[in-house]
Amino acid sequence: MADQLIRATAAEGGIRAVGVITSRLTEEARRKHKLSSVATAALGRAMSSGLLLVSSMKKEGSRVNIRIKGNGALGGLLVDAGLDGTVRGYVENPSIELPLNDQGKLDVGGAIGKDGYVYVVRDVGYGYPYSSTVELVSGEIGEDITHYLVNSEQTPSALLVGVLVDHQGVVASGGLLLQVMPKAARDESLVEILESRVSKLSGFTPLLQAGNTLPQIFEELLGDLGLNILPEISMVRFSCKCSSERLLSALKLLGEAEIKDMIEKDEGAEGTCHFCNEVYQLGKQDLIELLEEIKTEKV
Ligand code: ZN
Repeated sequence: MADQLIRATAAEGGIRAVGVITSRLTEEARRKHKLSSVATAALGRAMSSGLLLVSSMKKEGSRVNIRIKGNGALGGLLVDAGLDGTVRGYVENPSIELPLNDQGKLDVGGAIGKDGYVYVVRDVGYGYPYSSTVELVSGEIGEDITHYLVNSEQTPSALLVGVLVDHQGVVASGGLLLQVMPKAARDESLVEILESRVSKLSGFTPLLQAGNTLPQIFEELLGDLGLNILPEISMVRFSCKCSSERLLSALKLLGEAEIKDMIEKDEGAEGTCHFCNEVYQLGKQDLIELLEEIKTEKV
């Protein structure tokens, strides 16, 4: 199934549900960054989480950034997800591989580490972005983001994210977010229902592997609670806004002396985008023009 995001409500608007499939975009990230299996799972889970979190925002252009920094060998990761369905991200040490954990799953918790923090920024495109930090719970990402939603945003939430990787690449990836809306949050039974239903699931990717679509997954979880699946399907994809123009404007900040140095010593410059691993080569002539530009601006 194509990568997509679908929203639903239940319990007369008391429950908000979002499901996302990110198999293709996680495979794209794996290839771009040459990610190991455990790094693919970590970044895939975080990208699904970012898309699920940003889906509740209303203003066009809204974005969510999730930075996870633990004491494990992966070093940490950063994800940038937009309400327009674009997402990008990277991990610090993409080639780290670990043995499977005692449940036979990719050891994302071990790779991230249990000591550290999750830092989330919600940005609507103007004014100060809303940001908040919580400590890691397990490094498994799903639990950590749930902890963030419950403690920092005070929204009772159940989040499930998963990535299945085999020797050829990503087989399935995606996630599910169920939240009790503020007006219904005092209804403890709703919170309990959601928690018990999600805890019975053995993960998100087994649902996809069994051939379920997102509407079928919603139906199974919330079908008896007055489920209303919204008709709009949002496409999601890996996308980065970097360009050689952006690299040039970043170089500009280094100042004249530094740029002159690059022209004389290296006869050019090379820049790699952290988010998508794209390499940009700038020739001597590009840098000479950049110098001219800086000089004209000064006059
Ligand atoms: Zn890029």
